[in-house]
Amino acid sequence: MGSSGTDRLRDELRIRPGSRVHLGSFDVAATHGHERQDADEELAAGLERLTGLQERIWAEGKHPVLVVLQGIDAAGKDGTIKHVMTALNPQGCPVTSFKAPTAPELAHDYLWRAHQRVPGKGEIGIFNRSHYEDVLVVRVHQLVPEERWKRRYDQINAWERMLVDEGTTIVKFFLAIDKDEQRRRFQERLDDPTKRWKFRMSDLEERKLWDAYRSAFEDALERCSTDWAPWYLIPANRGWFRNMAVAEILGDVLEELDPQYPPVEADVPKELRLE
Ligand code: AMP
Ligand code: MG
Repeated sequence: MGSSGTDRLRDELRIRPGSRVHLGSFDVAATHGHERQDADEELAAGLERLTGLQERIWAEGKHPVLVVLQGIDAAGKDGTIKHVMTALNPQGCPVTSFKAPTAPELAHDYLWRAHQRVPGKGEIGIFNRSHYEDVLVVRVHQLVPEERWKRRYDQINAWERMLVDEGTTIVKFFLAIDKDEQRRRFQERLDDPTKRWKFRMSDLEERKLWDAYRSAFEDALERCSTDWAPWYLIPANRGWFRNMAVAEILGDVLEELDPQYPPVEADVPKELRLE
C-alpha cells in the first residue's frame, strides 16, 4: 500500500536513462492500482513517514536533499508543496520559487541563482521550478540562441553530478497533466475569487505554446534523467494520486539515506535526574 516502502511507484515512475519520453501518449490519469477512496489514508500515512524521516535528517545534519518540481502551468507544483511538504518542518526545508530572472541573476550564468539555493547538510530544499527553466521557457521563447541552450543539458547533468558527488541527494518530479486538465484548472482559477489572483492573461499565451513546451519537457526528461539525479514522471491529472506518489517516492528516497539521531554527547550520563 501507499507507505509500505516497497519502492513500487519509485520503480514504475522513474525515467530510465536513455529511454524515450512521449508525453502525448503518457497516461496522465493513471493511478497505478491506487483508489481515490483510500487516498486520504494513504497520504496521511505517507506524510507521517516523511515527518519522521525529515526530523532525523535535520537532527543528523549530514545529508543535503534537493527536490525539484517541474511541470506546465497549473500542473500542481504549488499544490504539491502545500499538501506534501506540510509534513516537513519549515526549519530545515527551504522552498525556492524560481521566477523570471532578476537583473543581477541575468548578469550571471544560469546556474548561479540555483547554486545559491541548493540545500545544505540536514536540509531538504524544494525547488518550485528550477534551473530546468533554462532549457524550458528559455528554449520555447528563444531567450538565448539555440547553440547555447543545447549545451545546457550536459552542463546540468555535470553540475548535478558534482552536487551528488559532494553528498547531495537529488530527486526530480515532473508533474504531467494534459491540455484539457489545464483548461479546467485555469477555468477554476477564473471562477474562484480565492484563486483568481493566480491567473494571468499571459497564461493563455503560454498555453498556445503547449506543443513547444511538450518537446522541451521531453528533451529535458530524456537527457537529464541520470542514475545520479533521476526524473520521476508523475501522472498529475488527479491531485490525490500526485500527492500520494510524490510523498511515497520522496519517503523511499529519504529512507535509503537511513538518517539517524546523532549520538548523545559523551559527558551526558545515562541517567540524570534534574532537580
Ligand atoms: P509562477 O511559477 O506561476 O509563479 O511563474 C513564474 C514564471 O517565471 C513562469 O512564467 C516561468 O516561465 C518564469 N521563469 C522561471 N524561470 C525563468 C527563467 N530562467 N527565464 C525566464 N522565465 C523564467
Ligand atoms: Mg503560474
